[in-house]
Amino acid sequence: MTKVFVDSSSYYLDTVVYTLSLLDSEKRFKLIPPVDIPEVESKRAEALLHYQVLDTAPEDSFDDLTGLAAYICQTPIAAIGLTDSNRQWFKSKIGFVAQEEPRDITFCAYAILQNELLIVRDTLTDERFATNPFVIRDPHIRFYAGVPLINPDGLALGTLCVLDHEPRDLSNEQQKALRIVALQVMTQLELRRNLKVLKHSIAHRKQSEEILRHNAFHDRLTNLPNRVLFMERLARALKLKKRRKNYLFAVLFIDLDRFKLVNDSLGHMVGDQLLVAIARCLESCLRPKDTVARFGGDEFAILLKNLQDVNDAIGVVGRIQEQLKLPFKLNGQEVFTSISVGIALNTIDYERPEDLLRDADTAMYRAKTLGKARYEVFNSAMHDHVLTLLQLENSLQRAVERLELRIQYQPIVFLETGKITGFEALVRWQHPDRGLILPKDFISIAEETGVIIPVGYWVLREACRQLRAWQLQFPENSLTISVNLSNKQFLQADLVTQISQILQETGLDSRYLKLEITESVIMENPEAATVMLLQLKDLGCELHMDDFGTGYSSLSYLHRFPFDLLKIDRSFISRMDVNGKDLEIVRALITLARNLNINVIAEGLETAEQLAQLRALQCKYGQGYLFSQPVDQEVAEALIAKSLSRSV
Ligand code: C2E
Ligand code: MG
Ligand code: MG
Repeated sequence: MTKVFVDSSSYYLDTVVYTLSLLDSEKRFKLIPPVDIPEVESKRAEALLHYQVLDTAPEDSFDDLTGLAAYICQTPIAAIGLTDSNRQWFKSKIGFVAQEEPRDITFCAYAILQNELLIVRDTLTDERFATNPFVIRDPHIRFYAGVPLINPDGLALGTLCVLDHEPRDLSNEQQKALRIVALQVMTQLELRRNLKVLKHSIAHRKQSEEILRHNAFHDRLTNLPNRVLFMERLARALKLKKRRKNYLFAVLFIDLDRFKLVNDSLGHMVGDQLLVAIARCLESCLRPKDTVARFGGDEFAILLKNLQDVNDAIGVVGRIQEQLKLPFKLNGQEVFTSISVGIALNTIDYERPEDLLRDADTAMYRAKTLGKARYEVFNSAMHDHVLTLLQLENSLQRAVERLELRIQYQPIVFLETGKITGFEALVRWQHPDRGLILPKDFISIAEETGVIIPVGYWVLREACRQLRAWQLQFPENSLTISVNLSNKQFLQADLVTQISQILQETGLDSRYLKLEITESVIMENPEAATVMLLQLKDLGCELHMDDFGTGYSSLSYLHRFPFDLLKIDRSFISRMDVNGKDLEIVRALITLARNLNINVIAEGLETAEQLAQLRALQCKYGQGYLFSQPVDQEVAEALIAKSLSRSV
């Protein structure tokens, strides 16, 4: 019977089975396996892993130390063995070929348990080793000395050991030297590990820096270069131009048309998907050396280098627009989109990249104004235009305070009798240098800059004041005043409060005030608009829909909003007498309005024929040059007086 002392933990079993296979046929060996403390053992094994040294190639720095140990101790065998959980693996060795041995039959497994130099002077006389297969069989080890390799945490990772085929001893000097060499081995292991950690952390830092750098120069959503990177490349192109006189490049400023509509109707997720799809589409239309960047929102910019002439840039725009004719399939829906593009070439001597970009932006803006889904190449006329606008913007800020605004009044006439029922207040700007400026030349700037708010309230106050004065002057008449409300003004939270205050101040009864609002204002935000319209109605004012037929022109929504009156846009009225279609549209609109119990004013009435047609259609009110152009206060008063005398 074989007596085998097996530790209760079963992990020894493998080793034991293996060891049994090494026993000779008489099975007379007794094996005493080393017993270590499981808790320390797991820490030790984990620590060893951190050195990342197991199963690595031989290294001179370790081989030199093994050689030195063998030399000092004058042994034929020496090794640096690392004790893995169930094997002894040799980082360096002299005098044998095995790369690893099962842990429990190695001498080192005992050496690491005692944290000190273990010397076995004769293995055959030591109970622990007398039956060891390495002792009783080849290579017949009779002498062993091993110093544990203790790491800074006090854990033994393995040993530096020397072995011999003869029983023998080590002198004190040899023992001392062997301990020193073992310390060197440990130092070497530490160095090696620190170097690895260092290399790893450098690589990690490099990677994080790379990511940071990438993020600083790229747009998160589309991963395209951002404005910063674009401007850097543009600056480089400008520098190159200084050296190469004929170097031609272009900046394309791109804005999606009606992107807000996609976002509002299909949601931000689809909006984002569209931006990404556009990004990929733009990339696919460019050469690798060109740059396409996203500036945020729905704005993109392209830098085209090495061009022959402007047609190269136009060609690129053509390619992009061709691709955009196909719909994008996003979230199961087909989304069509178009872009407006501004092109600026470096044919002007630009000093700063911002200037080139600004001009491309100006050209893009022009493309938008001219109807979208198109491109415009920047020219100096545009520059002058922008300059004028800028100057206007500045002086408009002060126009209100300097009392440069005027109101002209255009009569609204009861068509049946020709009597004036009221006036529309139309603002004018009496510019000190440029003379009279009409709304078309400053209302949109005022909208963009927000100056429309003070301008709008000024008009309201002045119009109400004037009407009140006329009411007192002509008490026999109940004239009304129509005032235009702009988009921005309509969306002011305190609009109702402001209007009611103005009515109070001027002493005008709210029922004489008619507020003109265009359909585009309503359609931009129908829910919010409805709330506002109802509040204005509560105030007692009438609501007139202005320029009907020019915007969304959806007849179906008309009944959803509390309008009292429809102003049919001049474009229909002016063509009515020459174009049968327009006459039919006007007829349909008047019928519709009547069915909805809404009154109608025909705008831009210029000819007697139009008047006759409108009368035949039973249109109630008219406004236009046929009766009068917008006029100053005095002329308006004369018109009222005349109108009164006519009706008498
Ligand atoms: P609107 O509200 O549709 O005003 C009517 C415009 O048509 C006026 O132009 C008027 O002069 C013009 N008009 C009237 N009858 C005829 C005609 O028979 N033939 C022709 N060719 N034109 C006619 P105006 O005064 O230049 O105003 C243009 C637009 O500016 C107005 O269109 C209105 O939308 C805006 N606007 C005018 N004053 C103000 C204001 O105080 N505030 C705001 N927010 N907008 C204003
Ligand atoms: Mg109007
Ligand atoms: Mg109008």
